[in-house]
Amino acid sequence: MEFLQGLQKSIYETFVYAFTAYFRYAILGFLIFWIAFKDRLVHFRIQPRPRTKSQVIFREIGYNFLTFFAIGISSWIVDTTLLNGRYGLFYNNSYKYISDYGWIYFILSVFLLLVFEDTYFYWAHRFLHLPKVYNRIHKIHHYSVDPNPFTTYSFHPLEAAILFFGQVLATSIIPVHDLAVSIWLLLTLLNSIIIHLGYEIYPRWFTQSWLTNWKTPSTHHNMHHEKFHGNYGLIFTWWDKLMRTEFSDYQAKLEFVQKRKITFLSF
Ligand SMILES: [Zn+2]
Ligand SMILES: [Zn+2]
Repeated sequence: MEFLQGLQKSIYETFVYAFTAYFRYAILGFLIFWIAFKDRLVHFRIQPRPRTKSQVIFREIGYNFLTFFAIGISSWIVDTTLLNGRYGLFYNNSYKYISDYGWIYFILSVFLLLVFEDTYFYWAHRFLHLPKVYNRIHKIHHYSVDPNPFTTYSFHPLEAAILFFGQVLATSIIPVHDLAVSIWLLLTLLNSIIIHLGYEIYPRWFTQSWLTNWKTPSTHHNMHHEKFHGNYGLIFTWWDKLMRTEFSDYQAKLEFVQKRKITFLSF
């Protein structure tokens, strides 16, 4: 019975996180971009096609709940059997005081977590696009050809578990302070919602500068939902460039969307 209580606690804590973080931002994004200002912000839209049907959005919200259920179970499995080397897979690598490694490492560790997560996601995502895996698992995330904020965590439970294990692996390899983990989780959550907004909110100067053009803007992942076989990256454009999986018309599409915005704003 003790294990049932542990499982319940893990699922409960995951849903507390879901409602205090994910749903709050996803609902806010949806209310602003898909309901309240949908006409005024139309020039920021990436795909001019008619909006995703409400049945699809409701189905995605249902899968959001299933995702957090799966993460709750996965988190319980990690805590009870796979953590601290009992089966040699995950380790608690957190340190207590920022001064243990210093502030420079603290900032670097957030960046390292993002790089690790992006690398894990890119290859897991390539795996999820293998035809048999796609049809059984990843197809659910692709219900929306024109994604919305609730597409973000619309996953088959197995996909939710695969991606969750990547996050646990990141913190078990890289020594991290709890605050760095919180900052990383917030950044990666906001990034995931922004790339599913259906709107391009990154300005042209940001995506054109060599200092920042390695960050994926919304159009990057939006094209993945529209055309499937390319732009697999989550946070950075590096892996798609290296593996030549970036859509050949990506830059042109991005400029087209952003210039449309500029024309609108200059009126
Ligand atoms: Zn995909
Ligand atoms: Zn997506």
